[in-house]
Amino acid sequence: ARDISLEKERRDDIQKSLDREREVGELKSRFVAMTSHEFRTPLTTIKQNVDMINYMLESSDKDAESKYGKFFTRINSEIGRVTTLMNDILLLGRIESGKVEIHKSPTDLQKLIEENILKITHGRADGRNVSFKVIGVNQPIQTDIQLMEQVMNNLISNALKYSDKTIDPEIVLSFESLSFVQIMIIDYGIGIPEKEQKNLFTTFYRATNVRNIQGSGLGLSIVKEFVLMHGGSIDLISDTNKGSTFIVKIPV
Ligand code: ADP
Repeated sequence: ARDISLEKERRDDIQKSLDREREVGELKSRFVAMTSHEFRTPLTTIKQNVDMINYMLESSDKDAESKYGKFFTRINSEIGRVTTLMNDILLLGRIESGKVEIHKSPTDLQKLIEENILKITHGRADGRNVSFKVIGVNQPIQTDIQLMEQVMNNLISNALKYSDKTIDPEIVLSFESLSFVQIMIIDYGIGIPEKEQKNLFTTFYRATNVRNIQGSGLGLSIVKEFVLMHGGSIDLISDTNKGSTFIVKIPV
């Protein structure tokens, strides 16, 4: 016979703290979802009213665009920034609570990437572009198109954002392996300090060398979650002031 009351007490304590942690987690998710939603609604109203004032000004004053245009552009861009932040926070909350589902269908990744590049680079004031190369024979891959679009959108936008005034980024899509398709997003920008690379996929983490480049530190967390939902992987090779290469592998 053995007295196990101490062991049982310890097990009960662990269970209690686990329950408490889960409760706090749920409370946090609900709070984040509620506040993000509460921010988004007034932002939409503000945007509609700014657009309305802009429209009314332009119809009553022919020179309105030259006089006030830059103020409206600035307001709209800041509204856009906060809206994106709120959308990302809401999306992460949905991912964490398992509410984002994956719906795979045969996807032409070459077309998806070409369209994404065009969407991001079309009409850019700095005229920068992204070069794109396909290795091997393009074939449809089972992915969730919307999730993959977000993955590419984040990685391409980052490649441009963190490599201002350097050579244009490159993307290489490779069908060479039989078991996975590989997408490399290469830029020649500021790079990421080696010690910080392991933290990059954590929410709100931003490397110390970003200086005044705007961002929230949420994009890569979303990217990683979406890649993992596909059973894939994401790796990074980077050198400060030389550039970064993100390597995404999606199983075939
Ligand atoms: P954000 O760009 O909004 O800050 P992300 O989650 O997309 O958030 O990226 C997290 C951090 O990773 C960035 O703040 C930056 O420090 C670093 N990072 C991501 N992509 C690159 C890149 N291509 N070059 C250099 N640093 C990068």
